[in-house]
Amino acid sequence: MVHRRVLQAMAEPLVGHLDPYFLELLDSVQDRLRWLFCTTNRLTMPISATGSAGMEACFANVISDGDEVVIGVNGVFGTRMCDVASRLGARVQRAEAPWGRIVEPDDLRAAISACSKPKLVALVHAETSTGAWQPLEESARLAREAGALFLVDAVTSLAGCPLEVDAWGIDLCYSGTQKCISCPPGLSPLTVSERALEIVRSREQPPRSWYLDLGLLGAYFDERRVYHHTAPVSMIYALSEALEIIEEEGLEARFARHRRNHEALAAGLSALGLKLAAQEGHRLWMLNSVTVPEGIDDAALRRALLNNHGIEIGAGLGPLAGKVVRIGLMGESSRPANVRRLLSALGDELAKADLGCSAADALQECERVYGDSGGI
Ligand SMILES: *Cc1c(COP(=O)(O)O)cnc(C)c1O
Repeated sequence: MVHRRVLQAMAEPLVGHLDPYFLELLDSVQDRLRWLFCTTNRLTMPISATGSAGMEACFANVISDGDEVVIGVNGVFGTRMCDVASRLGARVQRAEAPWGRIVEPDDLRAAISACSKPKLVALVHAETSTGAWQPLEESARLAREAGALFLVDAVTSLAGCPLEVDAWGIDLCYSGTQKCISCPPGLSPLTVSERALEIVRSREQPPRSWYLDLGLLGAYFDERRVYHHTAPVSMIYALSEALEIIEEEGLEARFARHRRNHEALAAGLSALGLKLAAQEGHRLWMLNSVTVPEGIDDAALRRALLNNHGIEIGAGLGPLAGKVVRIGLMGESSRPANVRRLLSALGDELAKADLGCSAADALQECERVYGDSGGI
């Protein structure tokens, strides 16, 4: 869900993309993004496209033909990174883990060792396709020791759980507006360290992508404000408002809210006899993948939730197709009212299949969590 204020911001009158008013707004958006990413990186900006463009921008600007890159693969988005990197001419070394589990530092170390000189080590912080929450700090250290840049996909994690770009030693990090930032899809916040920029500047050939060339983008997104492409003005209005809302709530409070609603949901699901599918101890707060019980058709269940209750949840992907469903609790959507409504609907639908569970039990367990927290 998106806050009404964000929708209203998109309906505001347009100004030119070089208008002084707009440039001032852009300055404040970039400052707020630095705050959100916990970075002082000068090159911090919203790319004019969705999260996947942030991914492509990172790889396209640092990779040259034949470069070795190490990518953690435990879901859709690590797999996508491999595709993006290899299309750009990289030689990809995968550090794999089963879908639903995290990439272990030992496996990352082995993949790094298999390279002669890795240019880049890349991981997905929050694997939206499985619900696995990847720890980053030790991997950052491994990348640094190997003389490689460290790249992190923070599309689903940013603004939903702690992420510290500078303190953790992340060189390239991108996100998307439509996950925990609670804005419509359309922009990809991106931040680049000075260390990564040196690699970009020292390229012999320009990056393969003109639209995503960080040198050209930097000339618009720094104080020069030189035209490169027309900034999507209404989307910037929306992002500005969404960031202001995040600032008003405060990051700590926002993370605590995501955590509490996840815990309440997990307690309710457990009372329904359902199991979370992601690795214990590494479960995301904003994306809950749930094992589909024996004898239940996941597509029929999702259809019933949508048609009978107006609730959309996600399907399992790749090897998890048909085996899990995915429940998002991101940004504005991470609210007790949504948790209660979902548990109640799920309880009713599962009761129809005679699984011996009741919505009332689920709600009781969920309220126990909210009661303990004094109600966030
Ligand atoms: C959604 C998502 C993306 C892709 O973002 P789009 O906005 O769909 O292009 C990349 N990585 C992760 C982890 C995501 O959840």
